[in-house]
Formats: sequence, C-alpha cells, structure tokens
Amino acid sequence: ESPAPRHFLRTIIEEDLREGRVDEVVTRFPPEPNGYLHLGHAKAISVNFGLAEEFGGRCHLRFDDTNPEKESQEYIDAICEDVRWLGYAWAGEVRFASSYFDQLYAWAEHLVREGKAYVCDLDADRAREFRGTLTEPGRNSPYRERGPAENLDLLERMRAGEFDEGSKVLRAKIDMAHPNMNLRDPILYRIRKRSHHQTGDRWCIYPTYDFAHGQEDAIEGVTHSICTLEFEDHRPLYDWFIDNLPVASRPRQYEFARLNTSYTVTSKRKLKQLVDGGHVDGWDDPRMPTIAGMRRRGFTPAAIRRFCEMVGTSRATGVADVAMLEHAIRDDLNAHAPRAFCVLNPLRLVLTNYPDGESETLTVAKHPSREELGSRELTFGRELVIEADDFRESANKKYKRLVLGKRVRLRGAYVIEATDLEKDSAGRVTTVYAQLVRGTLGEDPADGVKAKGVIQWLHAATARPATVRRYDRLFTDPSPDRDEDFLQYLNPESLVVMDGALVEPAVAAAAPEARFQFERLGYFVADRCSHNPAAPVFNETIGLRDSWSG
Ligand code: ATP
Ligand code: MG
Ligand code: MG
Repeated sequence: ESPAPRHFLRTIIEEDLREGRVDEVVTRFPPEPNGYLHLGHAKAISVNFGLAEEFGGRCHLRFDDTNPEKESQEYIDAICEDVRWLGYAWAGEVRFASSYFDQLYAWAEHLVREGKAYVCDLDADRAREFRGTLTEPGRNSPYRERGPAENLDLLERMRAGEFDEGSKVLRAKIDMAHPNMNLRDPILYRIRKRSHHQTGDRWCIYPTYDFAHGQEDAIEGVTHSICTLEFEDHRPLYDWFIDNLPVASRPRQYEFARLNTSYTVTSKRKLKQLVDGGHVDGWDDPRMPTIAGMRRRGFTPAAIRRFCEMVGTSRATGVADVAMLEHAIRDDLNAHAPRAFCVLNPLRLVLTNYPDGESETLTVAKHPSREELGSRELTFGRELVIEADDFRESANKKYKRLVLGKRVRLRGAYVIEATDLEKDSAGRVTTVYAQLVRGTLGEDPADGVKAKGVIQWLHAATARPATVRRYDRLFTDPSPDRDEDFLQYLNPESLVVMDGALVEPAVAAAAPEARFQFERLGYFVADRCSHNPAAPVFNETIGLRDSWSG
C-alpha cells in the first residue's frame, strides 16, 4: 500500500487539528435517495469516509431527503448496501435530514421572529422577474415588509396545509441586490403536498437544500462538510444560516471538483433515463457506472477505492481516463483471481491415440505466482473441446494456435498434433482429430518439434455449460455527457451473450460473485443475481489487455 497522497483537504484537516480548531474530525456523506450511487459518489464516499478513517474521526451517512417526490426506500436500501460493499462503516445509525424537520421548522420560526425571514406570495414566474440577473440587482418582493406576527401566522398556516402548492414560500430576508444570487432572499420552505418515505403525511412544507444542509451538519457536529464545486457559491448562504441561528456547533463547507470519467455518464438523472428507457437492464446492469452495476460487473471495492485515490482530490475540474479505472481493476484481479478454463465456442477435439473410456486427473495451479491459492484438478481424456478460433486448417506463421499437421500445447497438459478434421455440409469444422505426443506433460517433445502456442481446453464429458456475457463500454464516445442527447452515443455492441460456453465443473459450482481469470479470455465474475450451479452465468469484468499508459 502506497501512502495516502497529499491533497488540500488533508492539509486543512491537519492544520485544524494542530491549531486546536477541532478535537475530532467529523464528516458526512449526504446522498439524496433519488437514484443509485455512481462512480462520482464513490469518489465522494472515499473522500469523506477516507478522511474520517485516516484521522481517527467519524463519518455519518445522512440521507438528504428533502424532496419527497423523487425519493424512495428502494434507493435508501441500495445506497446503504453500496457504502458497506465499498468497505466503509458509518458512525452510529443512518441519519435522515427528515428527522430534523421539527428543529428546522423551529429555526425558521426563529428567523421570522427576528425579522430575518418572511412569507412571500409571488409565484415562481414573478419571483424570477424580481430576482434580477447576474448583471442587474433584483427588486424587493412586495411581501417583504410583512411583520413577524403576520409571517408567523402565515407560516403556521402553510404548515397546516391551508395553502396550495406554489402559492406561498418562506424566504430569508437578506439582500435582493447582492452580487451573489444565492443571497437574494433565498427560499427556505416550499409547499409540497406529497407523502414522504420517512415522515408520511406529517409535513406538507419541505425545507430547501440550502436551509437544511448546514444546520444538519451543525446538529450532527460535522466539522468538515465536504461537497463538490457547484456548491461554492452557496457557501456564503451556508455561513449566513450558521451565523444567524442558535446552532450548537460551527461546521465549515469545503468544495472539491467532481469526478468525471471518460466514456461514462455520471448524473443520476441520465442514468435513470437509461433505466427507464430500457437501454440497460436496471440500475445494476453490469454496464452501468453505478456502484451496484460495477459490483455485478465484477469490479472490486479495493480497485474502485484505488482509482478514487489515483485520480486525486483537488479544485481543478478534469476528466479522468476510464482506462485508469480499468487498470486498477485488472491489477487487483491479476493479483487475486484464480485461473480457470472456459471455452466460449466449443470445437470437438478427439485424441485418436488416447484409449477410449480412459481418463486421468491433472493438477494445475490456480494462480501462477500465488501458491497459497492452491491447485485445481482437471479431467483429461480422449474427447476434449477447444475454442473454435484456436484451430485452422492452414495458417501463416503469426497464428500461434493449432493448425492441421502442426502442434500446440494444451495448457497444463500435453502437446498434441492435429492430424485430420471433419466438416459439416456448410463447410464448418465440426471435429479435429489429433495425436497426443507422449511424454510432454511438463516437458518439451523428445523429437525436438516444439508446440507453436498454448491454448485452453476442457474435457468434453465433464465440462459444464454456462452462459457468458461479454461486455464492452456502454458508450462509444469519450464524452457522452457533453450534450443532452447522450443516447446517440450508446454502443450497440455493449453486450454479447454467449449461450454455448463451457467451463470447468468447479467453476460452474462457484458461489455468486466468485471471480476468475478465464485464461486467454479475460476476467469474469459469477453473476450476483442469476448465477447458480445448475445454470451458471458469468459476466465479463474486463479483458486482459491494458490500454492505460499512465
Ligand atoms: P447527481 O448529479 O448524479 O444527481 P448529486 O450530487 O445530485 O449527483 P447527491 O446524492 O446529492 O447527488 O450526492 C451526494 C454527494 O456526492 C454530494 O456531496 C455530491 O457532491 C457528491 N457527488 C455526486 N457526484 C459526484 C461526482 N461526480 N464526483 C464527486 N462527488 C460527487
Ligand atoms: Mg444533491
Ligand atoms: Mg442531483
């Protein structure tokens, strides 16, 4: 393990601890439960949980559930599972913004009593007109001078459900001419007559993100409230609430650049569009950049965490190369995944000089360098299968597999020499006949005629059928996110299902989520959802060749 790289948040925290500004580092990861988490969230998780872990502090998991219409329990459950799977543990119970609704409401009343908030009757269009622009100051709402008593009464009646959605909002009274638009009397509460997944029908007014977030941080004693750069302009408002409310602690907001990754879409809204439009098979489709999708694809938590570290944490926006993520996956799997044989397109191979009805057991290492992974046993006999692609009737010198009249080594077994073949009426080779070259188990042929290459094989009678799903990138364009019509960049060949594959019996019997390197093919994982020993299903995680040049 390399030491954690330096970055500005680490420096800030070290200083805060050294100067005694904080005793304990408290961070939080605050997803809105309106979709599944994606690779960008993995970055935010690794920053928040990672820093808390590193400095012996704690990190809260807090659902930012102030928008009842788009949220659901399904998303809450999936998010908890994803965070746990990545290997992080939140401090205490899962928290909800909605469990602070009473306190937030009391604070709203406090601002009203202090003359710092008012109920405004402008509808959305008129409010926009009054708001001004970046270059022009806004104008005061005609409702701005309502007194505290009238405002308290109206707010209470908003809460009681007396008014229609959109007819009234509660706003902070700050400065309609402020150069930062976020300080032009921002909205604190809006009327939404929707049931909420946590609070049911108890509320029909809901706080905005801005009015909720900093105060929740303060309630929880969060010291470093880390978010992405789009909230930078909200920071003065975050501080305004902390300064103007009797909160128990003083959190501070810090921003870093969002993680963007080539060939990848990371916006919950767009990912939901892929799911709802049937372009993928659910949020956890192995092609999705969701954490659940990457998990089903066979990516490892360690590799995703490693990638999040490699891309760094800064305030400079950029695009990370997806090949770097793939490199991290490959690196981890190369070190840990046991090797196995899979034949995607089986071709029958008969060893004519091997006695009929006999077989032997060969012992092969599970990993070329990690002895502790042990070995596996393979049945060898007269009838085998090899990859159809690994045989040609004739070929030039570059073809390092089996050619009629030539030799190849069956990996972990013998050298064989192809002697004859059989074709069907369409001219397709259906059977290859070969001779086993005796004395070649772990030895070169005694006659000095070497094998041209090494191929994988399986024993025909004991090999087990399996479905193998081969995946390619979901998008063909390096920045599918660059325009709204990102669906035009969908890769029509992102999934190829191989129905007639064969695998070793022990591989078929593996548990869901077991990972393998199918030799010469790539890394594969037993599908988390549909694999079972009676009907094995493997997903391609990643190919063998590394395209990252970092
Ligand atoms: P999306 O735009 O996909 O809906 P979001 O930011 O609205 O993302 P939230 O559920 O609010 O989603 O995000 C929870 C946390 O994750 C926030 O602190 C947010 O800043 C962070 N986050 C989201 N996307 C990224 C990203 N691409 N890189 C880094 N952090 C991210
Ligand atoms: Mg958000
Ligand atoms: Mg969002």
